[in-house]
Amino acid sequence: MKYTITLLLFCIGFTSLAQKTYVQCGQLLEVSSGKMLKEKTLVLEGNRILELLDGYQQGAAADSVLDLRALTVLPGLIDMHVHIESEFSPTTYIKRFTMNPADVAFESAVYARRTLMAGFTTVRDLGGSGVNIALSKAISDGRTPGPRLFTAGKAIATTGGHADPTNGRSMELMGDPGPAEGVVNSPEDGRKAVRQRYKEGADVIKITATGGVLSVAKNGQNPQFTVEEIRAITETAKDYGMLTAAHAHGDEGMRRAIEGGIQTIEHGTLMSESTMELMKEEGVYMVPTISAGKEAAKNAEIPGFFPPVVAQKAREIGPQIQNTFARAYKKGVPIAFGTDAGVFPHGTNAQEFEYMVEAGMPADEALRAATITNANLLGMGEELGQLKAGFLADIIAVQGDPLKDVSVLKSVRFVMKDGKVYKQ
Ligand SMILES: [Zn+2]
Repeated sequence: MKYTITLLLFCIGFTSLAQKTYVQCGQLLEVSSGKMLKEKTLVLEGNRILELLDGYQQGAAADSVLDLRALTVLPGLIDMHVHIESEFSPTTYIKRFTMNPADVAFESAVYARRTLMAGFTTVRDLGGSGVNIALSKAISDGRTPGPRLFTAGKAIATTGGHADPTNGRSMELMGDPGPAEGVVNSPEDGRKAVRQRYKEGADVIKITATGGVLSVAKNGQNPQFTVEEIRAITETAKDYGMLTAAHAHGDEGMRRAIEGGIQTIEHGTLMSESTMELMKEEGVYMVPTISAGKEAAKNAEIPGFFPPVVAQKAREIGPQIQNTFARAYKKGVPIAFGTDAGVFPHGTNAQEFEYMVEAGMPADEALRAATITNANLLGMGEELGQLKAGFLADIIAVQGDPLKDVSVLKSVRFVMKDGKVYKQ
């Protein structure tokens, strides 16, 4: 009896103390329909959305109120392609020889914070040295501010391929990296490399299905894996519940990646009409990264910014991405939102929205890609990407109407992640 009373008192006490937060929203974008709702209040409890109410509500005396009546409220944005450990500059290639993992860690913490403050509350990191895994843990434990980080750890390449970490070095320093370092040359190697990433704590498997622009290697678009190697990688990734992504500029490499079971094609620069059809049939998403293409092409004109072999590729490949995206969108290829931040400064990810709209995708669709589509691809479709009851409280706000002028997303005024306010 005494126990029951104590329990009852505890429950009553607990209920009355459970403070809620009432977020008053001048406008609120319902990303699922593209409708702009006026004068709404989001009720939060802990790190979750409890309900969405009409009008401006403030709850009981114990509850707190966030006044965003002058702003437009949206779900936190998601970027499917960043490199959180680094930011490209003329010293990038030298830095690989001068920086210790601890230096990388401090730098990446700065980039993570910048990304979060720009309204990107979740990102998928597609390759670094392994510091990205430690950073992901530090962020989720609340030790350092940053977006929810799904990371690939070290990307997987073939010998001499894009993301072979010793490309461009002298013979003495080149060595012969293997699956543990993310370099594979057979289906067996592929399985080992995936399991190694899993062991290290990665969430995503990224392969470099073709040559790339920024590696010190001649070819920026040749296929670099066999279908068998890719299939071994995707099947193993599936066993461990890991997502898969393939960097690809050339058409043949992307076709093989799709045939091998990859879920997203990053860049997709030289995608043919038949590969677009294949993407639609297989439900494979294109992650355009238009920003990276434009930035690389721009930097290629600055003397000495890139080594000559890289500058040449950046000029040829970079400017083509936006056109390919325009064609792919028109053809109905599934589109996710991703930028390749790190190739350009972190925190300017929202520039991609302007490029997408410029290429013919309406703002509401671009926003749906950066929220609902990306959340679904990350397996978080029931918790992220929408402002609905039961979803995690990842909330941002901007001044003005992003459906009329998508550039307002470049200056985010308010950021909440997981129920905690980071910018106000
Ligand atoms: Zn990338």
